[in-house]
Order: sequence, then structure tokens, then C-alpha cells
Amino acid sequence: MADNLPKNIPKKKPTGRNNTNNTSNTVRSILFSFILICFGAFLITNVSYREAEKKEVPISDVIQRANNPDGNISKITVVGSTLDITLKDNDKPTETSRKDGAGTLYDQGLVNHCEGLSGDDLKSCEEKYPVIEYKEDVNAWGIVFDVALTVLPIIALVVFFMWVMKQANAANNQSMSFGKSRARLYGPDKKKVTFKDVAGNESAKQDLTEIVDFLKSPKKYEKLGAKIPRGVLLAGDPGTGKTLMARAVAGEADVPFFSISGSEFAEMFVGVGASRVRDLFSKAKKNAPSIIFIDEIDAVAHKRDARGGAGREDEQTLNQILVEMDGFDNDSGVIVMAATNRVDMLDKALLRPGRFDRHVNVTLPERKDRLEILKVHFKGKPIEEDVDLEALAKKTAGSSGADLANIANEAAITAAREGHKAISNSDVVEAFERVAIGPERKSKVMNEKERKITAYHEAGHAIVGHVLPDSDPVHKVTIIPRGSTGGVTWFLPPEDRSYKSIYELKDILARAMGGRVAEKLIFGTDAVTTGASSDLRNVAELAKSMIVEEGMGSETRNLVFPSEATGYYTITTGKPYSEKTAETIDGEIKKLSSEAAARAESVLKANKAVLDKLAEELLAHETLEEAELEPILKNTKLPEAAKLYK
Ligand code: ADP
Ligand code: ZN
Ligand code: MG
Repeated sequence: MADNLPKNIPKKKPTGRNNTNNTSNTVRSILFSFILICFGAFLITNVSYREAEKKEVPISDVIQRANNPDGNISKITVVGSTLDITLKDNDKPTETSRKDGAGTLYDQGLVNHCEGLSGDDLKSCEEKYPVIEYKEDVNAWGIVFDVALTVLPIIALVVFFMWVMKQANAANNQSMSFGKSRARLYGPDKKKVTFKDVAGNESAKQDLTEIVDFLKSPKKYEKLGAKIPRGVLLAGDPGTGKTLMARAVAGEADVPFFSISGSEFAEMFVGVGASRVRDLFSKAKKNAPSIIFIDEIDAVAHKRDARGGAGREDEQTLNQILVEMDGFDNDSGVIVMAATNRVDMLDKALLRPGRFDRHVNVTLPERKDRLEILKVHFKGKPIEEDVDLEALAKKTAGSSGADLANIANEAAITAAREGHKAISNSDVVEAFERVAIGPERKSKVMNEKERKITAYHEAGHAIVGHVLPDSDPVHKVTIIPRGSTGGVTWFLPPEDRSYKSIYELKDILARAMGGRVAEKLIFGTDAVTTGASSDLRNVAELAKSMIVEEGMGSETRNLVFPSEATGYYTITTGKPYSEKTAETIDGEIKKLSSEAAARAESVLKANKAVLDKLAEELLAHETLEEAELEPILKNTKLPEAAKLYK
């Protein structure tokens, strides 16, 4: 059994953390390696040149040869006390010598024989005697250089090693980016999202237009002394487009968008969350006007009493957010947006004036909005003429924008897999069912007995659902396995409703029981199978929420009870009511489910012939659509015992 609200749709993982840190690290490491290599190369050439190619000769020998016309020296370069000697048949010094003893080299007899000569005289002199050139004494530097040459590579190596170790650590615990905000910046280069990309949700867009206008022309508001909102809280179910909406505000206003997710704070060390917040806010202020977006803020800002002891770190992070927001000047030009799907869980301190005092509700789309969203996501995809988006919009009551986007994507994938040139309606239907329940598993072989049990099980759901007056109409029944279920019965909600009556809910409980009850009627008590576990789970969950959240118990009518689901207590704080009350609640839940089973049984007993017929048809055709169901189901009747006392 399944109702047709897509459930358990895999949520997108939060996008990976930002890479600006990583990028700069990579650049640094490349640079580092490059410098190291250069250094090494320099070292090798220089050292070998100095060591290998010059022959040390005694100074007396040099002076003697320099004063001899056949001494074969063309040039002597004197640097401090070092002499570099170039021989006549060479163009580079090949010998070296060192001054020793007191007095200058000149005093010791190294004279420039050609000094003062010019023209041909100079030329003929230079053929015999060496030119003597005194260069500035860089000897002191030479020593430093020598030392540096030996020490620097070692230092470089040590630093390099330390850096490698640090990187290895960072990979383990991310301590590298300590205190740096991992905020993503959606700059102008990123594909800009505007309100056009957000379908439906007109009232939310209207509320946000004002924010956009402020970001575009803050002066207009300042002149009139208007207080600019600082914090805007987007509240709504998961997948309704809150994140999308926040990006659209940035896109419309054309300002930088700094985004971080509350869950990212959760994984930090003590004190890091707070410093990330500081970093984030200072970045945003530097880039004002700008938007800071804290996604899933409930992860750091849940009610203090609901935290159950843990979470000092969260508290620091939260406090830092509050401090930063309080410290804003009116003209800082930074607007903080946050998103949550649990407003009721937020710490009240966040919602005070001057903080997140603007609330924008992002709701699940209504039928016409769903159509718009589908159009947005099918735009740019080739589709056949038979694709009926209106029918899809009708079937998807309760689906979020993310669910619909997912269906559009699945349809394209299905079409590609089937080798279609364009998306056909059958691809769309398959995608919808796939997203709602899971992929069809034609390959899963069921033996005849299993098929028969499944056929009766689904027929049971369909008949109970059809017969009970407040249940939705049956849309389709199939015994082709899909996802983890053996078969599926789809009910079509005729229209969107915000509220459900107790009668409707009780009919939903009964039709969910219909599957197992049919199995029991036909195959006997012993034959009850494991195929109904998800039905029973649904019954248990719905019955519980009817009692503890909606005040629908028979003895506890209009009383509600704090529950874990509503966040009013946690495992650590324990139940805020007595054991006796707990027993009463359990009793009420039991009463609802046994009443549902009894009603289902009376319906199926009264319509045994139809049950057999429908099961038979299912075994023959596997899938029956509305039109094929209609002639079979029209022979059913509502027994007195299944009626509710209204
Ligand atoms: P939330 O932040 O509320 O959980 P997201 O903004 O992350 O939801 O929505 C997820 C995806 O669902 C979006 O990227 C978009 O593709 C789609 N989506 C949701 N709402 C809409 C919408 N109103 N119009 C168009 N696409 C939507
Ligand atoms: Zn079932
Ligand atoms: Mg989101």
C-alpha cells in the first residue's frame, strides 16, 4: 500500500564546503615546491662550478706570472682577498688564489703594467700582461651566502615537513581552517538565481521584494528614517525552496551572498563556531551591501531547554550571531537571512526585534504552483506533446518543489534510458512513481502464491479506500513490485486541503489496514505475511499523531501531549507526564488501530465478491487504471458496521 505523497525522497547532501581555503593551499604548495626546486638547481650548478672548475694556485706564483710577458694570464679579477685568474686561451677564470700576508696586493708586486696606456700601446701591452681589475669586496656577503647555501635548504626541508604534517592533520580533523568561515560566496560569476527561477510562492516573493529594494537603494529608506530589517527568517517545510529563495534575493538585488549552513557549525571544535561567525560577518560587512545566509539555523539555535544538556558550543555560536546582529549599524547594508523548517524549535532570543524579526513563510505549493514549478523544471528539456503536466500537478499534492524538480530530472533520466528522443508522458508517470515509491522491479520474480497474496492485499486497500466515504478516490492499483513494496495502491487527493478531519484520518487508517485484513480473510490467520509492515508503521505513526498532537482520542478528546516529535521533551529530560497518562495514550493509539482493522474487515466481508473479482483482474493485468477500476468497484456497498458515528 502506498499513499501518493512522495516520501523518503533522498535529500541532496549539503553541498561540499567551500574551496577557497583549499585553492590557496594548493597554490601555496605549488609555489613552495617551485622555490625549492629552483633553490636546489641553483645549489647544484653553483657549487659544482665553484668547486670543480677552478684550480687553486699559490699567490706568489700568480704574481710572478703576472709580471712575466709570457705569463699567459689575460685577466686577474680581485674581489677582497680572492683573485680569479683568466688565462689567455680562456674566457672564464679557471684558476683562483688567495692573498696572504700583510700589505696590499700592489705592495706585494701585483701591478697593472698597462695602466695609463691607450690605443695601440694598450693593445700590445694587454697581449703580454694581464688586465687587473679590482671589484668591490663582497666577501662578507660571500660568507653569509655560503652559510645560507648550507642552512637554507635544511630550514626549507624542515618547514616543508612541518607543513606536510599539518596538512595530514588537517585532512583528519580539518583544523587547518580554524576559525575561518567556510561561507560560500556566490559572486556574479555564479549562475544568478532570480525570482523567475522560483515558481509560485507569490506572497513570500512579495515580502522579499522589499528587502531587495532596500539592498538596491538603501538611501531611499535612510532618508525617511526607516529602520531597515536586519534579519529575515524563511520558514517552511524541507524542499519548499527556502535556499533557492534566499539566493534569488541576492540575485535580484545583485549583491554578494555569503552562505553557511547551521549544520556546518555543529561539527566544530569549541570556540570555532563563534570565530567563524565573526569571520563571516566581517567578510559580509567588507562587501556591503550584501546578504548573509544561515541555512538550517535550527541546528545551532534550538531552544535551550530542548537541547538536553549538550550543546555549549552551539550556545556560543548562537550568542556570537546575536552579538554580531546587535552590533550592526543601521547603515551597515548587511541583511542576515536564515532558513529553518522548525520555527517552533528556535530559541526565542533569535526572534526578538532587531534580530530575525521578519518572518517569511515558504509553503508547500498548491496545485497551480506545482504546475508552475513543473514548468520551470521541464523548461529546456525536450518533451512530447502527450506530456500532461496538469495531471502530474494534480497527483502530487503534498509534494515540495524539490520533489517536483526531482521528478522532472527522473523523467529525463528515464527517457534517456529508454532511448527516447524526447520525454514522453509514460516517462513522466514512471518518474513520478519512482520518486514516490522507488523504481519498478520487474526483475523481481514473485511466485504464484506471492502474486496472489499481493493481489488480494492491494485489492483490500483499494476496496476499503473506495467504499469509505471520506477517503480519496482510487487512482491506480498495481502488483508490479516497486521499491521495497510488492504492489501499490494509489489514491488521488481530489484537491489540496490544509486540514483533514478526524473522519478522513480514520478512513485513511482503515484503508491502510485493508491490505493485511484482506490477506487474513482469504488465506486465514496463519497466512498473514510480512508484506504489510510499512502499512502498519504508517498506521502507528498516524494514530500516534492523532492522539498526541491533534487531540483526537476518545477519552482524551481535545487534549494534546508533549511529544518527542514536537520537541517538547528529549530522551534526557524524560516524559513530562505520568506513567498513567502514558498508558492512557498507548490505549488510545491501540483503540484507533483496532477500530481501523475492524472497519476494514467489515467492508471486505460485505464486499467479498468484489474483492475476489478485483484480485483476479490484478493477477491477469497486473496494473489497473481508474477507468478499468471503475466498473469493478461500482458494485461495492458500505456496511453499517463500517460507518462512523458522526
Ligand atoms: P529548502 O531550502 O526549502 O529545503 P531548496 O531551496 O533547497 O529547499 O530547494 C531544493 C530544490 O527544489 C531547488 O534547488 C529547486 O530546484 C527546487 N525548488 C524548490 N522550490 C521551488 C520553486 N518554488 N520553484 C522552482 N524550483 C523549486
Ligand atoms: Zn499495503
Ligand atoms: Mg535548504
